[in-house]
Amino acid sequence: MSTIQATRGTRDILPEEIGYWQWVEATAREILAKAAYREIRTPIFEETALFERGIGEATDVVGKEMYTFLDKGERSLTLRPEGTAGAVRAFIEHKLYAAGGIQRLWYIGPMFRYERPQAGRQRQFHQIGVELLGTADARADAEVIALATDLLQTLGLKNLNLDINSVGEREDRLKYRQALIDYLTPYKQDLDPDSQERLTRNPLRILDSKDKRTQEITKNAPSILDYLGENSRQHFQRVQQLLRNLGIAYRINPRLVRGLDYYTHTAFEIQSDDLGAQATVCGGGRYDGLVAELGGPETPAVGWAIGLERLILLLQKLNAPPKYNLDFYVVSKGSEAEAQALVLAQQLRRAGFSVELDLSGSAFSKQFKRGDRSGAAACLVLGDEEAANKTVQLKWLNTGKQSAIAQTDLLEKIEEIRRQINAAKS
Ligand code: ATP
Ligand code: MG
Repeated sequence: MSTIQATRGTRDILPEEIGYWQWVEATAREILAKAAYREIRTPIFEETALFERGIGEATDVVGKEMYTFLDKGERSLTLRPEGTAGAVRAFIEHKLYAAGGIQRLWYIGPMFRYERPQAGRQRQFHQIGVELLGTADARADAEVIALATDLLQTLGLKNLNLDINSVGEREDRLKYRQALIDYLTPYKQDLDPDSQERLTRNPLRILDSKDKRTQEITKNAPSILDYLGENSRQHFQRVQQLLRNLGIAYRINPRLVRGLDYYTHTAFEIQSDDLGAQATVCGGGRYDGLVAELGGPETPAVGWAIGLERLILLLQKLNAPPKYNLDFYVVSKGSEAEAQALVLAQQLRRAGFSVELDLSGSAFSKQFKRGDRSGAAACLVLGDEEAANKTVQLKWLNTGKQSAIAQTDLLEKIEEIRRQINAAKS
């Protein structure tokens, strides 16, 4: 009988890899909480119209990549391809703006896009993202960019490049759009088929084309930066000034336009030199038009999303393993010793330690090997002799030092042991 496998473009995240995910999630939670961002969890599927309006029908995401289906009640639903539209819908639906002032939100979860699967590109993938709603101030742009770079740096990533650009306000973009069409039209036959089609529908996206010939042509295309109005120019200058103040290096990339229609002013991407073709780890920008577009009050906003698969590929490549968090690995052999080990493990867990109990019943040597691989700070060993004396061998895995200790002492000297464990892990 043929077996069923995970469907194309999806994959299982197995326990051996999960440490990376939990490490990234814990680090993100900590960094975002320190900056007063609060988590929001929205549904995985939404009305299709939300994404059509919120992302724009001329984009690849809506035009080609959405998982859209009719449910049994004939409603057109779509698995969310990104997190911003849902967060903004919730922001409007629950009148989060009524509290006045600013909302700082973040989310994490699976997203769905019908794409050609390859390394760093899946059909179900995960994003962590932030949305800072309620202010047009350039400090907000700088704040969210700083959070993204902080998160990536805290995880130990290097060789990252921050590209920034301004796509201006709607009027600036309309003028630029026309200039771009005027420039590209004579080359129309030489553009790749997708770009030919975009020429009238969404010409800014042509700058994003991965086709070599098209890239040659767009090299000399007019720059959006020459079409920014005074307001847009000032905003962009201020963002750059603030990034310099924060010590964040950036490059200006006038071809960085992002795929989504609601972006205004700042657009940015963080890329890694270590990722190959799928180099962009983080994409974001300002989207002052979106809340009103979805029926809410005029609300300027800025945010980003980080692709977790790409981030974790990088962490694995850089050989930056997550810090282990197991305190004790408990090894025992013999019926009485095994019974005592079970009790001891429970007592230690109640005292706040993480404890893995070897249940194999195999030879000590085999259990020790697993203990070595477990990432624990120390092994606890119980054999017949320890069971008879109510003692336990405490073996530190970093130094190999071993000593016998009464089981009651182990529990009484808990603070001392906690200090030793922390020292062994640091
Ligand atoms: P790309 O040009 O690589 O398709 P995008 O512009 O479509 O990226 P965004 O919509 O800005 O991407 O999403 C933000 C981040 O989410 C990306 O920078 C990337 O890290 C990640 N991401 C997007 N699509 C996928 C996917 N299909 N598989 C894995 N990660 C993805
Ligand atoms: Mg894409």
